[in-house]
Amino acid sequence: MSPKLQPVRGTHDILPEEFEKFHAVVTRARELATLYGFREMATPIFEQTEVFSRSMGETSDVVSKEMFTFPTKGEESVTLRPEFTAGIVRAFLSNGMQQHLPLKLFSTGPLFRYERPQKGRQRQFHQVNFEYFGYDSPAADVETICLAGHLLYSLSGKTGCTLLINTLGDKESREKYRNALVDYLTPYAKDMSEDSQRRLVSNPLRILDSKSEQDKKIIHDAPKITDYLSSSAKTRFDFVCETLSKMPAMQPMKVSPSLVRGLDYYTDTIFEFVAETGELGTQNTVLAGGRYDGLVEQLGGNSVPAIGFAAGIERLLLLTKTLEWDNVRQLKIMILPFEAVLPEATLMIAAILRNELYAHQRKTNLKWKFTVESLWQGNLKKRMERAAQRNADYVIILGPEEVSRDACVVKNMKTGKQEEVSLANLKDENKLIELFNITQDPGFRRNDEK
Ligand code: ATP
Ligand code: MG
Repeated sequence: MSPKLQPVRGTHDILPEEFEKFHAVVTRARELATLYGFREMATPIFEQTEVFSRSMGETSDVVSKEMFTFPTKGEESVTLRPEFTAGIVRAFLSNGMQQHLPLKLFSTGPLFRYERPQKGRQRQFHQVNFEYFGYDSPAADVETICLAGHLLYSLSGKTGCTLLINTLGDKESREKYRNALVDYLTPYAKDMSEDSQRRLVSNPLRILDSKSEQDKKIIHDAPKITDYLSSSAKTRFDFVCETLSKMPAMQPMKVSPSLVRGLDYYTDTIFEFVAETGELGTQNTVLAGGRYDGLVEQLGGNSVPAIGFAAGIERLLLLTKTLEWDNVRQLKIMILPFEAVLPEATLMIAAILRNELYAHQRKTNLKWKFTVESLWQGNLKKRMERAAQRNADYVIILGPEEVSRDACVVKNMKTGKQEEVSLANLKDENKLIELFNITQDPGFRRNDEK
């Protein structure tokens, strides 16, 4: 026998039970996207390599070592998307979307990074992603961070995370800070990790993000960006921090001067939500983002301010063990024909039920989940057991006698009650509603409503 086929290292299958949770996270994100005025769009999962290398920065970890890049048959270099922002900005430009500012866009789907797989870190992972183009006020920063906090809160009843926030300042502030940082770090260069020694030349701000203990000691007394901000960058950051500190859902919140984020395109406000609990180990950042006012121009457009963030779905799932699942009512009907019954009769009943139930659902906008399934194999007793195991609410038993009378027996699995029902009645919407006890849920009511 040939060896069992396995998924590629760093990828994983999302089996039905897990997928339900996965889906619930995406649903919450989608609902909140609508609530905050974001519209969903999708970009291809691969782009010309340039889209990423020109935006994220050649020296960033992602571009320098984590991209899945390959040539097409036409010898064009393409890359599986390692993040959403660059592709969305490319789409923004390709489709002339700057005509429609301000624009708020939501996306979700798989991302690919060649990383060392560990808990909360895969080579194919998934994100929900939000981008807000065309409004440069710090009010947009606050609203976007509130949305991020709301998303985490909606998943676990609390954010369960600390909001870390920092500013990279405007270009002028960053330039001044970069010089001060290099001046401070240079005398320690020989004691720093190899990565940091390289970054001292290529990307010194990233050294602040180093995980090396020795580096951390050196960084401890490094100059802080907040002391190098221009007055407009400082005013902006003060507004963002003060306003957020008044929002109860944003607590706890910490200004973190060493927060830098890995990509080159960030400017001004940057933020992360990190898990307080140890559940995520070292992969404790669940959501991250920031302002990127220069990126649209860098990719060939006009200057368009923008801010965005992304949350890793796998990490959200590790965090939200107590996720409150959507409480959608279900109606599961399983049809169990006697062996002597021809398949036509079973197929016919299934077709009638599916058509009628689905039409009723569409007409009334009912939020129930309907399932109609036939169980063909095994003896009747075994099939009854299987229907119970799979949480059937009703089973339809179909013997030759019922078929000859154009009828079937419907059994309520909770009460054990059973009755014969004619096919004509199954086609009657009102009778169907009564038979399966389908009610329109009252939905949400305010306390003061009668
Ligand atoms: P990290 O520091 O953990 O590598 P990052 O800064 O590279 O994260 P971003 O590019 O900001 O991450 O992506 C935003 C979010 O996407 C992260 O906070 C995380 O939840 C998720 N994420 C990033 N890379 C991976 C991965 N390889 N596997 C699973 N989730 C990931
Ligand atoms: Mg990373």
